[in-house]
Amino acid sequence: MLLISTRSGNELFRPAEAIIRGLADDGGLFVPTEFPPLEFDFSTVVKPDYKEIAFKVISHFFDDFSEEELKNAILRAYDEKFDISDIVDIKNYDPVFILELFHGPTYAFKDMALSLLPHLMVKAKEKLSITEDVVILAATSGDTGKAALAGFANVPGTKIIVFYPQDGVSNIQKLQMITQEGDNTFVIGVDGNFDDAQTGVKKIFQDKDIKEIFNNKKIILSSANSINIGRLIPQVVYYYYTYAKMLYDGVIKHGEEINFVVPTGNFGNILAGYYAKKIGLPIKRLLCASNENNVLYDFIMSGNYNRNRPFYKTMSPSMDILISSNLERLLYDVTEKQVTVSELINNLNSAGSYDIPSIAKDRIQQYFDAAWSDEDDTKETIKTVFEHDGYLMDTHTAVAYHAYQDYRRATGDDIKTVILSTASPYKFSSSVADALGKTSITNDEFDDIDFLARKSGSLVPSGIACLKDRPIIHKTLCKKDEMKEQVIQMLT
Ligand SMILES: *Cc1c(COP(=O)(O)O)cnc(C)c1O
Repeated sequence: MLLISTRSGNELFRPAEAIIRGLADDGGLFVPTEFPPLEFDFSTVVKPDYKEIAFKVISHFFDDFSEEELKNAILRAYDEKFDISDIVDIKNYDPVFILELFHGPTYAFKDMALSLLPHLMVKAKEKLSITEDVVILAATSGDTGKAALAGFANVPGTKIIVFYPQDGVSNIQKLQMITQEGDNTFVIGVDGNFDDAQTGVKKIFQDKDIKEIFNNKKIILSSANSINIGRLIPQVVYYYYTYAKMLYDGVIKHGEEINFVVPTGNFGNILAGYYAKKIGLPIKRLLCASNENNVLYDFIMSGNYNRNRPFYKTMSPSMDILISSNLERLLYDVTEKQVTVSELINNLNSAGSYDIPSIAKDRIQQYFDAAWSDEDDTKETIKTVFEHDGYLMDTHTAVAYHAYQDYRRATGDDIKTVILSTASPYKFSSSVADALGKTSITNDEFDDIDFLARKSGSLVPSGIACLKDRPIIHKTLCKKDEMKEQVIQMLT
């Protein structure tokens, strides 16, 4: 398989190169040049095994890795770090199914790909005979940061630098990051929101001074955000796994189409679903769920992307995003020759908006639907689902759940639908406790954690319970225009 940048159409890259580079030199994202169908004979699957399916799906895309290399990486990624041996769990509330993707070491779905990415990078380095250190830059809306830190901590030949919005993540998310151990880890709070952090990181990738320093010092810069294709492809796996598991459980028949509902921020998770559909998985609709930062909802409905709007801080902070990076990959796919992605992105950078041709909009609407939830909807959903089904969900999952209810009411579509649950409710304890009506107000999030444990009768995940006693290691803060200097300082 060969990859190409979304912004220029000539140079081709092998998967290993694209993984190491993270972002193309022209600022574009790497995309596969073709999507051959995956020969996946579900009837031969006896009992679905996450690691086997991962190998099948990932080797389809990353065919420059040997079978041994890939199997080794997969084996080391999906091990006892996950708190269930199946790696993901599917809860059955037929016709609604909840796919829990938060059983990894940091309790958010980012672990699904970030447990694997460091191993892919080490292998890719070997393949390309790169002896230089790789420095991973990541901007985080809260969950990528910790998952990337956990994945790369103490991995030889790598350093990881994470920028998070100082006031834009939950307390637990922040604690998880600033208590991270490992000599090769750096965590910095940015005085801005996620878009500022992400824009800052993308600028660093294209900065001439930085490039020169890196060349002189023989360091390679890469990315752990979902702009890296090495993060995106491992996310295709759980769409396949879910389908195989539902077949195995007898809740769907061979070839039966199902829907997926995805709480969306940077458009990485849902794009992986789109890629799954492109290579042949029987998906009918992909429902893009947004919170009050509903720029994607407007875009999917109208074909107009407009980031000139208020930025809201919501209780689902990992989706507080107005510039969704991975949308660029979808644009590349649906616009073809009518308009270049570079033109659209230039408009976005200069005017803050762009329009796509109506034929491209029609194509998007063939696959995608959209709905969004405001803060009251989200709270109400957490409460009613808990009272009705005894199921406790986090704020991001609740956004998706409510979006699904809206979609179903509007369309009457009642086929089997999988809602992706992207984080443990314990990661957003204060908001979830508040939704359940906890009245005693303290500023101690650990009180809220205890409240949730009592109320739901579930165990507090060990990695969250232990945060209380962890020393704070990373205290650096910076302004959003100081990110470049921070990186230079850290490496010199
Ligand atoms: C990152 C994240 C999202 C959004 O995923 P994208 O791939 O950025 O669209 C949703 N929920 C949670 C909990 C997340 O951490």
